[in-house]
Amino acid sequence: MEKSLLHYPIEGLKGVGPARAKLLYNALGVITYSDLLNLYPRRYIDKTAYYKINQLQNTNAEVQIIGKIIHIKTIGEKRAKRLVATFKDETGTMELVWFRGLKWLKDGLKINEPYVAYGKVSKFGQNYNMPHPELELLAVHQQSLRSAMQPVYPLTEQLTKKNISNRTINQIMQHLFRSLQKSVIPETLSERIIKQFDLISKKEALFNIHFPQSQSLLLKAQQRLKFEELFYIQLQLIRSNLLRKAKSKGYAFEEVGDLFHQFYKKLPFELTNAQKRVIKEIRTDAKQAVQMNRLLQGDVGSGKTIVALLVMLIALDNGFQTTLMAPTEILAQQHYKSISALLIDLPVNVQLLTGSVKAKDRKVIHQGLEDGTLHILIGTHAIIEDKVKFKNLGLAIIDEQHRFGVKQRAKLWLKNELPPHILVMTATPIPRTLAMSVYGDLDISVIDELPKGRKPIKTIHYYDSNRLKVIGFMKSEIAKGHQIYQVFPLIEESEAFDYKDLMDGYEAICRDFPRPEYQVSVVHGRMKPSEKEFEMQRFTKGETNILVATTVIEVGVNVPNASVMIIESAEKFGLSQLHQLRGRVGRGAAQSYCVLMTSHKLSADAKTRIETMVATNDGFKIAEVDLKLRGPGNMMGTQQSGVLNLQIADIIADAKILAAARRTAIELLAKDPNLAEKSHLPIRNAFAVLAKKNSNWNQIS
Ligand code: ADP
Ligand code: MG
Repeated sequence: MEKSLLHYPIEGLKGVGPARAKLLYNALGVITYSDLLNLYPRRYIDKTAYYKINQLQNTNAEVQIIGKIIHIKTIGEKRAKRLVATFKDETGTMELVWFRGLKWLKDGLKINEPYVAYGKVSKFGQNYNMPHPELELLAVHQQSLRSAMQPVYPLTEQLTKKNISNRTINQIMQHLFRSLQKSVIPETLSERIIKQFDLISKKEALFNIHFPQSQSLLLKAQQRLKFEELFYIQLQLIRSNLLRKAKSKGYAFEEVGDLFHQFYKKLPFELTNAQKRVIKEIRTDAKQAVQMNRLLQGDVGSGKTIVALLVMLIALDNGFQTTLMAPTEILAQQHYKSISALLIDLPVNVQLLTGSVKAKDRKVIHQGLEDGTLHILIGTHAIIEDKVKFKNLGLAIIDEQHRFGVKQRAKLWLKNELPPHILVMTATPIPRTLAMSVYGDLDISVIDELPKGRKPIKTIHYYDSNRLKVIGFMKSEIAKGHQIYQVFPLIEESEAFDYKDLMDGYEAICRDFPRPEYQVSVVHGRMKPSEKEFEMQRFTKGETNILVATTVIEVGVNVPNASVMIIESAEKFGLSQLHQLRGRVGRGAAQSYCVLMTSHKLSADAKTRIETMVATNDGFKIAEVDLKLRGPGNMMGTQQSGVLNLQIADIIADAKILAAARRTAIELLAKDPNLAEKSHLPIRNAFAVLAKKNSNWNQIS
């Protein structure tokens, strides 16, 4: 690669020097000219726009306003003494305030002459005020008008302390661009892509991101740099996905046979279009002799289990064994029961393997797996123990992926010659745009439709002080023959405390719902699996009216007769957890309810969570709010991804650009997997630079 100025250390740059270079490195990680070029401003102060007083918002933003001073007064004593000028435009009045240099100012200010006031506004009582504005007579301002916006760079306290201000960075940038004038700033996208999306050149974009010549050029610069950033992330993800596929041979499920068709014919309902589409996607994938690695997203109640079962039957039709792994014992049991019931008429051997299966029964299961007479194994982590050996495992389905690490997934692959197809099901949808960025190694299918005729769950928020009302409501639902979940939070660090909460709650409920008229079950983490199972059974069979539990029932239990979900201390739950819990009801024909109980003290975020739950049942919308509240770094499964350290793009706001970038990357790699074409040279070069930076990226050969 040609050695250009871009790789020079900034130490040599005018206005920097060794001391500042060190400071900039420590604070912002900047080493080279190129790093400095890529240090984008956080925001811009728009001195091209003028605000009216009635347009002001309490945002602390810096704005400029044209108006006249109609009145000046000095108020306060001693240190609180200040000069207050009433500033007026045709839409209203506000105050300009000075605490220093009062006398000098007072004499200089002109009454009833048009001024431009510039500064931060804030709201005090009903009035807006601007402390220490920059004030310029309009007549003077018009002559010196600068059309440029001023960039604001990310600065740390450390830098400000050492007198490196925004102005300093701005000056350094000016030196940088001057010294780069004759140097080439290489283009990093192909001509075709630039034309297709009407992008500006890399050089022009970099210049305008630092020195925007107009709003519209700034916008173009941002679009270009965002596209580029997202494009290279996608290119990397998709390429490694292609490499993985090229390497990982898998079993081909060539046909859809008798078991599938027999079962399909007898389904008591018609599959939703989304279910049909997803099955088709999976079939197409599994037909190829390439290992499938797919994520199935679908809201709670969208019918993932049936999809899983149909896909398992395709595996059986092709002579393979299959397994379904669930995160909890209760859920594994539930799957086992419903699936064996559904397959009752078919010659399929289904078994359950969990930690509490006895050694004797285990042996039988191991035997069946090894000689191939056991077709479907349902279970918990117990499935990935070393002793479990399949004869020919063709497909592994993992329910609720966040409970299992990738390592555990990989372990399943090692059971036989070729890795089984992997289908990971999750009911905690993350926005598709985010999924595309973080699960680059997985293909994604989405069930974005609920079965017809579902009544939306009504969600109501009550403060603890309204408990009597809630008890009355519970009694009326029980009188209709319905059942109720009551859930207490479980936070691992304070398990003892939560346990006490739960037991107190249980006692209170037993008092309010006395036997023999009412029956109450309780399930919590300190019980033995067999006790839990016993209590769950009582509830499932309808023998108890209320199930008091910690979050053990969070994932997957299915009791259609339960119509009310009461969540205690709902402010302590995260949004996705709340949504999961709510999904336990609304499975039968009756109108279902979710009651969120909270204390009166709610943080702003907790309030937003509760309001969101009350406002919508849509898991994808909820996921988006969650993303906004917690940031992408905290979303499940994104921690390790590293692709979210975005410099300029915003995964949510720039979803459209992301989609375009992704499409472009897919098309490009389909045509030219090694970026060998001459016209792709800029991309190949840029990719190589990135690969060098990020050692775990795959090198382009
Ligand atoms: P989840 O996606 O949350 O795992 P389930 O697979 O448990 O959802 O399905 C929820 C309920 O909806 C089950 O009782 C299932 O039998 C039923 N169901 C699934 N698909 C359909 C459909 N297409 N029409 C009607 N009911 C369906
Ligand atoms: Mg499920």
